[in-house]
Amino acid sequence: MSEHEHGQISIHTENIFPIIKKWLYSEKEIFLRELVSNAVDAIHKLQNANLMEGLGLADDYVVELSLDKEAGILTVKDNGIGMTADEVRKYITQVAFSSAEDFVEKFKNLENKNEIIGHFGLGFYSSYMVADTVEIRSLSYQKDAQAVQWKCDGTTDYELWEIDKKDRGTEILVHLSEDEKEFLEESRVKDVLKKYCNFLPVTIRMGEETINDSSPLWTKPASEISDEEYKEFYQKLHPFSPEPLFWIHLNIDFPFNLKGILYFPHLTSEFDVAKSHIKLFCNQVFVSDNTPELIPEFLRPLQGCLDAPDLPLNVSRSYLQNEPQVRKINEVITGRVASKLNDLAKKDKEGFRKIWDDIHTFVKFGMMQDDRFYDKVKDQVIYKTTGEEEYTTLPDYLVRCKLDHENKVYYANDEAAQATYLKLFKGQGIEVLVLDAMIDNHFISFLEHKNQDVKFERVDADVTENLIGDDQTKKIVTGEDQKTTEDRLQELFKGAIAVEGLEIRVESLKDESVPGMILLSEQTRRMQEMTRMMGQGADTLFKDHTLLVNSANPVVKKALQLVDEEKQGMVANQVYDLAMLAQQSLTPERMDAFLERSGKMMELIG
Ligand code: ADP
Repeated sequence: MSEHEHGQISIHTENIFPIIKKWLYSEKEIFLRELVSNAVDAIHKLQNANLMEGLGLADDYVVELSLDKEAGILTVKDNGIGMTADEVRKYITQVAFSSAEDFVEKFKNLENKNEIIGHFGLGFYSSYMVADTVEIRSLSYQKDAQAVQWKCDGTTDYELWEIDKKDRGTEILVHLSEDEKEFLEESRVKDVLKKYCNFLPVTIRMGEETINDSSPLWTKPASEISDEEYKEFYQKLHPFSPEPLFWIHLNIDFPFNLKGILYFPHLTSEFDVAKSHIKLFCNQVFVSDNTPELIPEFLRPLQGCLDAPDLPLNVSRSYLQNEPQVRKINEVITGRVASKLNDLAKKDKEGFRKIWDDIHTFVKFGMMQDDRFYDKVKDQVIYKTTGEEEYTTLPDYLVRCKLDHENKVYYANDEAAQATYLKLFKGQGIEVLVLDAMIDNHFISFLEHKNQDVKFERVDADVTENLIGDDQTKKIVTGEDQKTTEDRLQELFKGAIAVEGLEIRVESLKDESVPGMILLSEQTRRMQEMTRMMGQGADTLFKDHTLLVNSANPVVKKALQLVDEEKQGMVANQVYDLAMLAQQSLTPERMDAFLERSGKMMELIG
């Protein structure tokens, strides 16, 4: 090439530069990612050639950025493979728009803008978002190559000519437009580089400073990494976060490439589950930090990074939603999380219990969402229990309790409100699970659905045979009217307490200290809770309930012997209100009456 060549960039239908200038208005900074990625690619190509062709090159690969404020030029320089004049013509000027019309058409729909860039591989040309003119100066690595310079001012015309350039590689000179001078500010450029290029595999330098960590932790074998290093790296990805609970290092080559480190964070209340918190990389180039499609919904809290080199650099949400590989990535991650949980539960019981409070919601949610996940982790789920140990698994609980009560699982979901019942159960040595998280209501129904022979019953649903003493009261005939104590107590309480939907049941409990307690059948209660959740009136909750009157209790016994009907009524209502209070369910009206009556009763003592 002897003369100064003038040519035309071959775009078939329309000048794309105006479009490039406008498009992706909010993300103009990605031109830097594109140029630096190209520079890194050029170095990779040279590294390959070095191996294949035995060039014996020194290992001093570097990408350098420089800012010339006076001239208004940002330069990205590499010592990679370089380009000959022919290569510039071929790779740069024959923009491969197989269907530029299509491009223009799609551009109109702004939502698809990301997809477009990826689709058409406009990497280099994205520099025209911020530049009027871009120049390329390049010397190919090939023997006796002639260095060339290319220049294009944002029209379809370009110039190409020979220059004197001694060092191998390419310089891209971006003449920033008037509005884009921010990219001449060192701090601005550094920020962008930190965001997109922080883990690129080749040294990136600005002046004397190396910007990136060219061999980030996920690229190293797990066996060579200490816990401290994992934690340190977590801080790099998510500064100022509390220590992660555990992590999973992925290093998959087959059937696709996937590397990365996933961290399970210490969850705080302001955690945003709608968003993904994983940083996605493609060959160490940062792509996005919000690609929720990559992980199953229930694992949204996971943080860390994934490097998926088979995905395009410019992934769009719609692309991810339709890409079969994404589903496989989902499955792999789910599988790895399940095995990690199994590992932790088996090898480090103590540690597992410590993190359980943080992770159980997601584990349970995952089990309900994903059958395979359910199968893998179901035996590791642990429950707080009133038994000897603090936690138990369901199978263990059933084995221990089977002799007592078939496959019934007793649980409490509010230790304060159900304290009376818990005391009774404890007194009889019956173990009760504490299922007091938001998700547990649903999880219980789900478990029953999965295991047809297991039934959950809240402690206040019924009184079991175990709690009832040898019942003699029924047989004792009291007085000439042949009524049993039970019948008389029935009448007394029924007549005295004016509450709609209240049933009275009299039993003689082994524990005589409790005068009465409220029973709510499991099924009725669940139905009521459901209607309540669907917003249909809170007051329905206690409509159908039973007051269990303990005929073994001394005060209850005494009530029968009272002659004064008013006093009998006071005792009956007091017993009921106390039971409702224990359930934390007293209505305001009854609370008033309760307080007044309590006052009166104290007067009686005096
Ligand atoms: P893509 O990188 O997606 O192929 P680009 O428009 O960014 O698209 O680049 C087109 C081509 O130009 C590249 O494939 C490469 O062959 C060449 N190229 C771009 N930048 C460089 C560079 N710094 N060194 C060598 N070749 C380059």
